[in-house]
Amino acid sequence: MFSKILIANRGEIACRVIRTARRLGVATVAVYSDADAASLHVAMADEAVHIGASPVGESYLKADRIIAAAKQTGAEAIHPGYGFLSENPDFVDQVTAEGLIFIGPSAASIRAMGLKDAAKRLMEKAGVPVVPGYHGEAQDIVLLATKAREIGYPVLIKARAGGGGKGMRRVDNPDDFSEALSGARREAKAAFGDDRVLVEKYVDKPRHIEVQVFGDNLGNAVHLYERDCSAQRRHQKVIEEAPAPGMTPALRKAMTEAAVKAAKAIHYSGAGTIEFIVDASQGLKADRFWFMEMNTRLQVEHPVTEMVTGVDLVEWQLRVACGEKLPKTQDEIKLSGHAFEARLYAEDATKGFLPAIGTLHHLRFPERAPAGATMRIETGVRQGDAISPYYDPMIAKLVVHGNDRGTALSALETALAETEIAGSVTNTAFLAALAGDPDFATGDVDTGLIGRKQDALTTVPAPGEEIIATAALAAADVAEYRDPSDPWSSLVGYAHFHVGSRSIALKSGEATISARVTARIDGGFDVATDHGVHSLRAGGGKRLARWPEHVTVFSGATGYNFGVPDPLAKADDAGAGAGNLRAPMPGLVKVVRSAPGEVVIKGQPLLILEAMKMEHTIAAPHDGTIAEIAVEGAQVTDGTVLVRFVEADS
Ligand code: ADP
Ligand code: ADP
Ligand code: MG
Repeated sequence: MFSKILIANRGEIACRVIRTARRLGVATVAVYSDADAASLHVAMADEAVHIGASPVGESYLKADRIIAAAKQTGAEAIHPGYGFLSENPDFVDQVTAEGLIFIGPSAASIRAMGLKDAAKRLMEKAGVPVVPGYHGEAQDIVLLATKAREIGYPVLIKARAGGGGKGMRRVDNPDDFSEALSGARREAKAAFGDDRVLVEKYVDKPRHIEVQVFGDNLGNAVHLYERDCSAQRRHQKVIEEAPAPGMTPALRKAMTEAAVKAAKAIHYSGAGTIEFIVDASQGLKADRFWFMEMNTRLQVEHPVTEMVTGVDLVEWQLRVACGEKLPKTQDEIKLSGHAFEARLYAEDATKGFLPAIGTLHHLRFPERAPAGATMRIETGVRQGDAISPYYDPMIAKLVVHGNDRGTALSALETALAETEIAGSVTNTAFLAALAGDPDFATGDVDTGLIGRKQDALTTVPAPGEEIIATAALAAADVAEYRDPSDPWSSLVGYAHFHVGSRSIALKSGEATISARVTARIDGGFDVATDHGVHSLRAGGGKRLARWPEHVTVFSGATGYNFGVPDPLAKADDAGAGAGNLRAPMPGLVKVVRSAPGEVVIKGQPLLILEAMKMEHTIAAPHDGTIAEIAVEGAQVTDGTVLVRFVEADS
């Protein structure tokens, strides 16, 4: 086994690789960009090397710097994760030329599968069924249009260099062909610098079913069964599962045999995935599946396979890369139970899945798996970390396993409902809606399911009275207690010193909700809005997060965000400089020991504030001249400026 490896990636996949390496006693080197200096993968690794600025072109795609980092730290091998340099054969050549080991397939295998058209020609020769279509060299529009007509509409135009669903256009009739072709070419040119395309039959009721394969350097190749990734949005995977629902023994046998044949045809070593498209219009039939492409790397969704086979695929990658034989034979690889993975992203499903950024002020994942299930949370972030604009906005992957599909699916729903994220919008509610969809529940999935139901899956019900009341109460309290560990007890604390009531303005989307919060003698609260009075009982059970100028109330998998104008920010707007003193909490100005014009020294008591039944001495934070000071007997709210210094001194 290696003694030290470098991981040329970031985020959850870097963390996931480090975990296995550590278990095997392999030391790890992380690489990081400016934006990732304080990130989890850096904290987890034994060593870390800074490789450049935040944009990927200046760091994670800089092959030279990554290789130099490996040599400088004495790493023997490089794990590429997925994305970035993972499917770049020139990088593999460079790594090998430097005497290092690339943890993945050979450059030749990657090249063989790198372009979809060449890969299809190769697979046809190897006897693997490929999607009927045109995948030749010639690219003139008349020829392509003729081929499309021969294939029969609808057709799919695909960038041969494509990935991540880019450069792809479905065309339903010949009139639209030319426009769709230009669109696909433009997108392909921009994304991959290659505008060549292939044209395929658009498969009816398509299901995306892929087979995990694994090869070693001794000529062995096995499969680890299939994953179903049909739950897609714009050709991108949303929830994946293993095994495929409704899989028949005949289709599984045909698909896994074809996958192993494909891997062997290119002498494949390491983890790879053969993606097939399946026509499910007449159910799953053994002669209705076709090769789409091979991903010559570890997939994002590999954990579902690990859950149903008990194999650690990263461990296998490391073993195979240092020359060991595959740890198991085909007969020893068994399928057990059912697993799902949901990809949690910072994106706004209600706004066309617009990617979002933000600081994850509040981040709670379920602590344990729901009864009867096991769970794995794969993440590269902690509470307080930021989703930056530089990288993929994935926050985490929620992975669950149960004895059967129903158990696993209900575990997924529970896990999503227990997930709390505030500080950025997320797709948690969308994932929960999909997991709860009746067609998804019966396993009647195809790649069009999400598109057909998009409106229903992305509609979030307006916040109810209970949620608004909870938010108003939390907002009333927001500047007084900042202990996030027990929101409710701090809310109750509010009642002990707050006589009377307090007005609150909450921003919910475009609307502003005015509320009045009144503490009751029994420890509960009444929250009055235009819609009436809602009473909240004292006691726990409220799931909420307070973060700068916001409150988020969680209800199931939905996080309702409310904007709360920050009194401290207002004080700043009013011209309070950094050196001025503001009330840390609402209270009564009891004694004033200074006056405007007086020169004071650091630490000198200036006034006494009574709050929470206690007296707090407010002292000068620095030497200076008082410009203005609060008057005795004044009732102040948190953030009110108590002492203003003469500008030049502060
Ligand atoms: P997979 O085919 O493994 O399921 P997807 O098709 O969803 O993965 O994503 C494909 C590509 O998206 C990845 O290979 C990678 O290029 C990119 N990608 C997704 N997430 C990340 C990430 N966190 N870091 C880098 N690249 C990513
Ligand atoms: P990428 O490299 O972008 O992942 P793929 O060839 O794997 O490209 O296709 C991505 C997705 O597009 C598939 O998962 C599937 O949903 C859809 N798709 C691809 N080919 C076809 C086809 N011939 N018919 C119907 N859907 C297809
Ligand atoms: Mg694909």
